[in-house]
Amino acid sequence: MKIINQKPTAVPPDLPEANLNGGTPMPRFQKKPQVFLETYGCQMNEYDSELVRTILKKENYEFVPKEQEADIVMLNTCAIREHAHRKVYGRVHAIRHARNGKPVMIGILGCMATNLRQELFQDRSLKIDFIAGPDSYKRLPALIDEAVVDGKKSFDVTLSEFETYADVYPSRKEGVNAWIAVMRGCNNFCTFCVVPYTRGRERSRPVTNVVEEVKRLADDGFKQVTLLGQNVNSYRHEEDDFASLLEEVSKVKGIERIRFTSPHPKDFPDRLIDVVAQNPKVCNQIHLPLQSGNDRVLEMMDRTYTRQEFMGLVDNMRKRVSNLVLSTDVIVGFPTETEEEFEDTLSLIRQVEFDSAFTFKYSQRKGTIASKKYPDDVLEETKTERIMRLNDIQKEITYQKNRAHIGETHTILLEPATHTKSKNEMVGRTDGNKLVIVTTPAASTHKVGDMVQVRITDATPHALKSDMLL
Ligand code: SF4
Repeated sequence: MKIINQKPTAVPPDLPEANLNGGTPMPRFQKKPQVFLETYGCQMNEYDSELVRTILKKENYEFVPKEQEADIVMLNTCAIREHAHRKVYGRVHAIRHARNGKPVMIGILGCMATNLRQELFQDRSLKIDFIAGPDSYKRLPALIDEAVVDGKKSFDVTLSEFETYADVYPSRKEGVNAWIAVMRGCNNFCTFCVVPYTRGRERSRPVTNVVEEVKRLADDGFKQVTLLGQNVNSYRHEEDDFASLLEEVSKVKGIERIRFTSPHPKDFPDRLIDVVAQNPKVCNQIHLPLQSGNDRVLEMMDRTYTRQEFMGLVDNMRKRVSNLVLSTDVIVGFPTETEEEFEDTLSLIRQVEFDSAFTFKYSQRKGTIASKKYPDDVLEETKTERIMRLNDIQKEITYQKNRAHIGETHTILLEPATHTKSKNEMVGRTDGNKLVIVTTPAASTHKVGDMVQVRITDATPHALKSDMLL
């Protein structure tokens, strides 16, 4: 295994010594170590936290629902935006403060661990005890041991070229949808993104290994799987590409629906689009990150496509996939983005009419190409003003798209309800992943996990409303 980062097991000389648990020696665990794990950021982090649960449970650790009950608190962090960092610093201080000097070990996992390891250890006020990057979770028991037994700060942020945790079956909560990481890392190096530095190079799990996990999920009652990857459609294992993986996963009995996220526009051959169009289990819903509608900005972002090529891909997808539901990601205020160039983004948004969009203000990240090459010169208030204009336009488009479904009949997968106001309401999602609030007739015996027919009766910018067809 080629190691990209130096893999010290003890603290390098330039980092403060023996500041474990805020200086108070950590008593050996009298009973099963109690762990509280908090997750930030993307679905990949949610999945990784499920892996961490399995790895530590095997070593006789116990997970507790409340932070106060824990001997060890672990934060699985995100490095995508400044806001995420500040949140973690605030949390660590709050945890120590709440303990009022009582012993607790604090460990930092995830992308911030890799990106800000030095800062996290050098900030004495944080008193971090151990750090593990996204490829080092199998070393967590050893890292915790090192910290407890040797009383030393321990860390491992090795970026692996091989680790896919293919031999670890995640500890999931019950549900209808299960997330499965089919590949890890990213080779794209979009200039604004830290992922290639915090999660390393792309590597994919064998198709048989993924199918094995899907079969276990079907046995555990899951009805839908969402295949995950930082750049999921560049999945490749020996001769198998993402299209063949989707086909194999769709053969698993008991799984009704297959979704995937997050793809890159450059990896959508017709073969893959046709699997989405023709395979009844693969949902007609694609998340297609745009980021900007202007060619100069797209080039500075190193997104490898032009505005016209992106439009061409959208046209090709809409021609091949009926009732396609498209969503996207957009960044506003990228360095040197002018008002005219932002207008290009708005005009593309109006032209494509995505069903929904995740919008972000550019946030400079330590270590990215953009942070080294481009000054973050678009004013914060300009970024705010631009994202509000973009959100207003997109909200209206989403609303009209949702209203266009009124009168239609859809098959939805009923899911655990978090959005219902009354007991004769259930929620589910269309094939296009649109949330539907269903009024259930008294006679209904339907339950979470059922696929049911509904007629859409109303819509808001956030959800569809419907009557259930018995
Ligand atoms: S494809 Fe996505 S994860 Fe990869 S560098 Fe670009 S933005 Fe980051």
